[in-house]
Amino acid sequence: MMLDGQVALVTGGSRGIGRAVCLRLAGMGAKVGINYVSNPTAAEETLAAVEAAGGSGFLVPFNVADAGAVQEAVKGVLDEHSFIDILVNNAGITRDGLMARMKEADWDQVIDTNLKGTFLCSKAVMRPMMKKRRGRIINITSVIGFLGNAGQVNYGAAKAGIVGLTKSMARELAPRNVTVNAVAPGYIVTDMTSELSDDIQAAIRAQIPLGSLGQPEDVAGVVAFLAGDDAAYMTGQTLHVNGGMYMGN
Ligand code: NDP
Repeated sequence: MMLDGQVALVTGGSRGIGRAVCLRLAGMGAKVGINYVSNPTAAEETLAAVEAAGGSGFLVPFNVADAGAVQEAVKGVLDEHSFIDILVNNAGITRDGLMARMKEADWDQVIDTNLKGTFLCSKAVMRPMMKKRRGRIINITSVIGFLGNAGQVNYGAAKAGIVGLTKSMARELAPRNVTVNAVAPGYIVTDMTSELSDDIQAAIRAQIPLGSLGQPEDVAGVVAFLAGDDAAYMTGQTLHVNGGMYMGN
């Protein structure tokens, strides 16, 4: 299989899009490190699903926003598995609210988890990748980073920031044959969107040319493409997976 012998670390791999990515990469032969921060039961379910499908994985609990915890966890993975071929920066949260009422803590938490977490995890894995002159870093951004959304200044800023981070990282790492790309999902059916009311979900569907919310597997397939051989000559790109909701670039 295409990713046989490779190790992938998927942040926020325990639920939603991250879980689908773990299953997909494991199905391609990679050994997947399933990261989570607070919910071991979901992570164990993901590991069980990976193994039930004939794949192999391991759990790596840490908070992506905590520099010390990230370094320690990545060192542990490298000690145990010798290399991380693929990093998927997927962990993310929302703390929505109109800006006039948004608490500074809600701004900080979203920026720290979604944007700084991507920086910290990438920084922790990049040195061995650069040394070995191989590696794939795939960052999960969002359609909101491109369209904006009332009530999500923190999330929109973090996700737009990930696009800029991806392009600059791609330029820094290209000479070492490490590629850095982003995937921008639209609205995908996960715990994150299940909080939205039926009315809001109907209003969202009305803005999606393909007429429905996406599934985690729709995103996982594009992540798998970026992790595989066919994407070897792509770096600094953002691939949009949104049912046509946003068609720009
Ligand atoms: P979910 O809420 O379903 O899952 C979030 C995952 O991130 C969980 O595994 C959670 O772990 C983990 N996580 C949260 N905070 C941290 C942290 N500080 N450190 C480590 N892990 C953490 O999210 P989705 O699957 O919906 O979203 C995944 C990514 O896709 C996010 O970056 C999100 O912004 C992005 N996205 C999602 C869209 C959607 O419509 N769902 C649309 C566009 C982008 P635990 O279980 O322990 O809490």
